[in-house]
Amino acid sequence: MTITIVLDPGHGGHDPGAVAKGLQEKDVALQISLAAAERLKAKYEGIRVLLTRTADVFVPLPERTSIANRERADAFVSVHCNAGGGAGGFETYMYSRSANPNTSELQRVLHSEIWRRINPIGVDRDRGPKKADLYVCRETNMPAVLIECLFIDVPADAERLRRADVLDALADGIAAGLASYFGLTSDNQPVSVRIEVNGKYVANGDAIDGRTWGPARIVGEALGASIGWVDRTVTVNGVKLPTRLIGTAGWVPLRPLADVVRARISWDGKSNTVKLKM
Ligand SMILES: [Zn+2]
Repeated sequence: MTITIVLDPGHGGHDPGAVAKGLQEKDVALQISLAAAERLKAKYEGIRVLLTRTADVFVPLPERTSIANRERADAFVSVHCNAGGGAGGFETYMYSRSANPNTSELQRVLHSEIWRRINPIGVDRDRGPKKADLYVCRETNMPAVLIECLFIDVPADAERLRRADVLDALADGIAAGLASYFGLTSDNQPVSVRIEVNGKYVANGDAIDGRTWGPARIVGEALGASIGWVDRTVTVNGVKLPTRLIGTAGWVPLRPLADVVRARISWDGKSNTVKLKM
Protein backbone atom coordinates (compact mmCIF):
# COMPACT_ATOMS: atom_id res chain seq x y z
CA MET A 1 0.00 0.00 0.00
CA THR A 2 1.42 3.36 -0.97
CA ILE A 3 0.09 6.25 1.06
CA THR A 4 -0.37 9.48 -0.87
CA ILE A 5 -0.03 12.75 1.02
CA VAL A 6 -0.72 16.13 -0.56
CA LEU A 7 0.84 19.19 1.08
CA ASP A 8 -0.68 22.50 0.05
CA PRO A 9 1.39 25.65 0.62
CA GLY A 10 -1.18 28.47 0.69
CA HIS A 11 -1.25 31.40 -1.76
CA GLY A 12 1.66 32.11 -4.18
CA GLY A 13 2.51 34.26 -7.20
CA HIS A 14 0.37 37.41 -7.37
CA ASP A 15 -1.44 36.29 -4.18
CA PRO A 16 0.94 36.87 -1.25
CA GLY A 17 -1.63 36.01 1.43
CA ALA A 18 -1.15 38.00 4.61
CA VAL A 19 1.68 40.53 4.45
CA ALA A 20 3.18 42.33 7.43
CA LYS A 21 6.45 43.08 9.15
CA GLY A 22 8.33 42.36 5.90
CA LEU A 23 7.01 38.78 5.81
CA GLN A 24 4.73 37.29 3.16
CA GLU A 25 2.50 34.37 4.05
CA LYS A 26 3.12 32.67 0.68
CA ASP A 27 6.88 32.43 1.37
CA VAL A 28 6.54 31.13 4.92
CA ALA A 29 3.93 28.55 3.86
CA LEU A 30 6.13 27.30 1.01
CA GLN A 31 9.21 27.04 3.20
CA ILE A 32 7.40 25.01 5.88
CA SER A 33 5.69 22.76 3.31
CA LEU A 34 8.90 22.00 1.41
CA ALA A 35 10.68 21.20 4.68
CA ALA A 36 7.83 18.91 5.81
CA ALA A 37 7.90 17.09 2.44
CA GLU A 38 11.68 16.60 2.72
CA ARG A 39 11.34 15.09 6.18
CA LEU A 40 8.54 12.74 5.16
CA LYS A 41 10.47 11.48 2.12
CA ALA A 42 13.73 11.09 4.03
CA LYS A 43 12.29 9.31 7.03
CA TYR A 44 9.42 7.08 5.92
CA GLU A 45 8.91 4.43 3.27
CA GLY A 46 5.77 3.53 1.36
CA ILE A 47 4.60 7.09 0.95
CA ARG A 48 4.23 9.46 -1.97
CA VAL A 49 4.36 13.15 -1.09
CA LEU A 50 2.95 15.66 -3.56
CA LEU A 51 2.84 19.44 -3.29
CA THR A 52 0.26 21.68 -4.93
CA ARG A 53 3.11 24.10 -5.66
CA THR A 54 6.87 23.98 -5.21
CA ALA A 55 7.64 27.53 -6.32
CA ASP A 56 6.27 31.05 -6.02
CA VAL A 57 3.38 30.55 -8.45
CA PHE A 58 -0.36 31.19 -8.21
CA VAL A 59 -2.51 28.04 -8.02
CA PRO A 60 -6.31 28.55 -7.86
CA LEU A 61 -8.10 26.77 -5.00
CA PRO A 62 -10.09 24.39 -7.28
CA GLU A 63 -6.83 23.21 -8.84
CA ARG A 64 -5.37 22.45 -5.41
CA THR A 65 -8.29 20.27 -4.42
CA SER A 66 -8.47 18.56 -7.83
CA ILE A 67 -4.82 17.56 -7.55
CA ALA A 68 -5.61 15.82 -4.26
CA ASN A 69 -8.83 14.23 -5.53
CA ARG A 70 -7.33 13.11 -8.86
CA GLU A 71 -4.29 11.57 -7.13
CA ARG A 72 -6.61 9.84 -4.66
CA ALA A 73 -4.66 11.30 -1.76
CA ASP A 74 -5.07 9.72 1.67
CA ALA A 75 -4.51 13.01 3.49
CA PHE A 76 -4.39 16.70 2.56
CA VAL A 77 -2.61 19.31 4.66
CA SER A 78 -2.87 22.98 3.78
CA VAL A 79 -0.25 25.29 5.28
CA HIS A 80 -1.06 28.94 6.00
CA CYS A 81 -0.25 31.75 8.39
CA ASN A 82 -2.86 33.75 10.23
CA ALA A 83 -3.54 37.50 10.41
CA GLY A 84 -5.94 39.87 12.10
CA GLY A 85 -6.19 37.95 15.37
CA GLY A 86 -4.86 40.25 18.07
CA ALA A 87 -2.78 38.13 20.41
CA GLY A 88 -1.43 35.62 17.88
CA GLY A 89 -0.89 31.88 18.32
CA PHE A 90 -1.38 28.53 16.64
CA GLU A 91 -4.58 26.89 15.40
CA THR A 92 -5.79 24.23 12.97
CA TYR A 93 -9.00 23.79 10.99
CA MET A 94 -11.10 20.99 9.59
CA TYR A 95 -14.33 21.25 7.60
CA SER A 96 -17.19 21.81 10.01
CA ARG A 97 -19.47 19.30 8.32
CA SER A 98 -16.94 16.56 7.55
CA ALA A 99 -18.65 13.17 7.78
CA ASN A 100 -15.38 11.25 7.87
CA PRO A 101 -14.26 10.21 11.40
CA ASN A 102 -10.66 10.20 10.15
CA THR A 103 -10.74 13.96 9.65
CA SER A 104 -10.98 14.90 13.32
CA GLU A 105 -8.38 12.23 14.11
CA LEU A 106 -5.96 13.72 11.55
CA GLN A 107 -6.57 17.18 13.02
CA ARG A 108 -6.11 15.96 16.59
CA VAL A 109 -2.83 14.19 15.81
CA LEU A 110 -1.36 16.99 13.66
CA HIS A 111 -2.37 19.64 16.16
CA SER A 112 -0.76 17.88 19.12
CA GLU A 113 2.42 16.83 17.28
CA ILE A 114 2.99 20.42 16.10
CA TRP A 115 2.08 22.00 19.43
CA ARG A 116 4.40 19.82 21.48
CA ARG A 117 7.28 20.94 19.26
CA ILE A 118 6.58 24.69 19.05
CA ASN A 119 5.47 25.22 22.65
CA PRO A 120 8.87 24.42 24.26
CA ILE A 121 10.60 26.93 21.95
CA GLY A 122 8.45 29.89 22.86
CA VAL A 123 5.06 29.68 21.15
CA ASP A 124 2.79 30.18 24.13
CA ARG A 125 -0.69 30.51 22.66
CA ASP A 126 -2.61 27.41 21.55
CA ARG A 127 -5.87 28.62 19.99
CA GLY A 128 -6.93 25.00 19.60
CA PRO A 129 -8.33 22.73 16.89
CA LYS A 130 -11.25 24.47 15.15
CA LYS A 131 -13.89 23.83 12.53
CA ALA A 132 -14.87 26.10 9.66
CA ASP A 133 -16.20 26.04 6.13
CA LEU A 134 -12.88 26.44 4.29
CA TYR A 135 -12.77 25.68 0.56
CA VAL A 136 -9.77 23.33 0.49
CA CYS A 137 -11.05 21.31 3.45
CA ARG A 138 -14.59 21.13 2.08
CA GLU A 139 -13.79 20.22 -1.54
CA THR A 140 -11.24 17.48 -0.84
CA ASN A 141 -12.51 13.88 -0.72
CA MET A 142 -10.00 12.75 1.91
CA PRO A 143 -9.27 13.83 5.50
CA ALA A 144 -8.03 17.42 5.20
CA VAL A 145 -6.61 19.84 7.75
CA LEU A 146 -5.56 23.47 7.37
CA ILE A 147 -2.78 24.65 9.65
CA GLU A 148 -2.49 28.30 10.65
CA CYS A 149 1.19 28.70 11.51
CA LEU A 150 1.13 31.75 13.82
CA PHE A 151 0.16 35.34 12.99
CA ILE A 152 2.17 37.27 10.41
CA ASP A 153 0.83 40.60 11.71
CA VAL A 154 1.50 40.02 15.41
CA PRO A 155 5.04 41.30 16.12
CA ALA A 156 6.01 38.47 18.52
CA ASP A 157 4.74 35.81 16.10
CA ALA A 158 6.44 37.49 13.11
CA GLU A 159 9.73 37.35 15.04
CA ARG A 160 9.16 33.64 15.64
CA LEU A 161 8.42 33.02 11.95
CA ARG A 162 11.87 34.43 11.13
CA ARG A 163 13.53 31.79 13.33
CA ALA A 164 14.82 28.62 11.66
CA ASP A 165 14.11 26.54 14.79
CA VAL A 166 10.43 27.55 14.75
CA LEU A 167 10.04 26.77 11.03
CA ASP A 168 11.81 23.43 11.60
CA ALA A 169 9.52 22.61 14.52
CA LEU A 170 6.44 23.35 12.41
CA ALA A 171 7.73 21.16 9.56
CA ASP A 172 8.75 18.38 11.98
CA GLY A 173 5.33 18.50 13.61
CA ILE A 174 3.53 18.17 10.26
CA ALA A 175 5.72 15.21 9.25
CA ALA A 176 5.43 13.52 12.65
CA GLY A 177 1.68 14.09 12.79
CA LEU A 178 1.16 12.48 9.38
CA ALA A 179 3.48 9.59 10.28
CA SER A 180 1.60 9.00 13.51
CA TYR A 181 -1.79 9.23 11.77
CA PHE A 182 -0.78 6.58 9.22
CA GLY A 183 1.08 4.41 11.75
CA LEU A 184 4.35 4.72 9.83
CA THR A 185 7.52 3.56 11.52
CA SER A 186 8.49 5.94 14.25
CA ASP A 187 11.56 6.47 16.39
CA ASN A 188 9.47 5.35 19.35
CA GLN A 189 8.79 1.70 20.17
CA PRO A 190 5.18 0.55 20.50
CA VAL A 191 4.08 -0.51 23.99
CA SER A 192 1.67 -3.42 24.38
CA VAL A 193 -1.81 -2.65 25.76
CA ARG A 194 -4.92 -4.71 26.59
CA ILE A 195 -8.17 -4.09 24.75
CA GLU A 196 -11.56 -4.72 26.37
CA VAL A 197 -14.97 -4.57 24.72
CA ASN A 198 -17.94 -4.22 27.08
CA GLY A 199 -15.80 -5.31 30.02
CA LYS A 200 -14.30 -8.40 28.36
CA TYR A 201 -10.71 -8.82 27.17
CA VAL A 202 -10.65 -9.32 23.38
CA ALA A 203 -7.06 -8.75 22.21
CA ASN A 204 -3.75 -7.06 22.78
CA GLY A 205 -3.01 -3.90 20.87
CA ASP A 206 -0.25 -1.34 21.12
CA ALA A 207 0.29 2.31 21.90
CA ILE A 208 2.68 4.41 19.88
CA ASP A 209 3.12 8.19 19.85
CA GLY A 210 0.11 8.52 22.13
CA ARG A 211 -2.27 6.51 19.92
CA THR A 212 -3.61 3.02 20.50
CA TRP A 213 -3.99 0.48 17.71
CA GLY A 214 -5.57 -2.97 17.64
CA PRO A 215 -6.55 -5.81 15.30
CA ALA A 216 -9.52 -4.50 13.31
CA ARG A 217 -11.39 -7.75 12.83
CA ILE A 218 -11.29 -8.98 16.44
CA VAL A 219 -12.07 -5.61 18.00
CA GLY A 220 -14.47 -4.45 15.27
CA GLU A 221 -16.52 -7.63 15.26
CA ALA A 222 -16.72 -7.62 19.07
CA LEU A 223 -18.35 -4.21 18.61
CA GLY A 224 -20.75 -5.56 15.98
CA ALA A 225 -19.07 -3.75 13.08
CA SER A 226 -18.59 -5.22 9.64
CA ILE A 227 -14.94 -5.33 8.63
CA GLY A 228 -13.70 -5.34 5.04
CA TRP A 229 -10.63 -4.65 2.93
CA VAL A 230 -10.10 -2.21 0.06
CA ASP A 231 -6.61 -1.81 -1.46
CA ARG A 232 -4.86 -3.25 1.59
CA THR A 233 -6.78 -0.83 3.78
CA VAL A 234 -9.26 -1.92 6.44
CA THR A 235 -12.83 -0.66 6.22
CA VAL A 236 -15.11 -0.53 9.24
CA ASN A 237 -18.79 -0.30 8.28
CA GLY A 238 -17.54 0.87 4.89
CA VAL A 239 -15.25 3.63 6.25
CA LYS A 240 -11.55 3.30 5.38
CA LEU A 241 -9.23 3.63 8.38
CA PRO A 242 -5.43 4.05 8.44
CA THR A 243 -4.08 0.50 8.45
CA ARG A 244 -0.91 -1.15 9.72
CA LEU A 245 -0.26 -4.69 8.55
CA ILE A 246 0.88 -6.89 11.45
CA GLY A 247 1.52 -10.34 10.00
CA THR A 248 -1.64 -10.92 8.00
CA ALA A 249 -3.87 -8.86 10.30
CA GLY A 250 -4.88 -5.27 9.66
CA TRP A 251 -4.54 -3.03 12.70
CA VAL A 252 -6.38 0.27 12.96
CA PRO A 253 -6.31 3.18 15.42
CA LEU A 254 -8.95 2.54 18.07
CA ARG A 255 -10.27 6.07 18.47
CA PRO A 256 -11.64 6.48 14.90
CA LEU A 257 -12.81 2.84 15.04
CA ALA A 258 -14.84 3.75 18.13
CA ASP A 259 -16.16 6.86 16.33
CA VAL A 260 -17.40 4.83 13.36
CA VAL A 261 -19.35 2.37 15.51
CA ARG A 262 -20.32 5.05 18.07
CA ALA A 263 -18.66 3.24 20.96
CA ARG A 264 -17.26 5.05 23.98
CA ILE A 265 -13.52 4.73 24.42
CA SER A 266 -11.52 5.26 27.60
CA TRP A 267 -8.05 4.53 28.87
CA ASP A 268 -7.26 2.86 32.18
CA GLY A 269 -3.61 3.53 32.95
CA LYS A 270 -3.55 1.25 36.02
CA SER A 271 -4.39 -1.89 34.06
CA ASN A 272 -2.87 -0.61 30.79
CA THR A 273 -6.22 -1.19 29.12
CA VAL A 274 -8.23 0.51 26.38
CA LYS A 275 -11.92 0.10 27.21
CA LEU A 276 -14.56 0.21 24.50
CA LYS A 277 -18.24 0.25 25.41
CA MET A 278 -21.32 0.13 23.21
ZN1 LIG B 1 -3.72 31.98 4.00
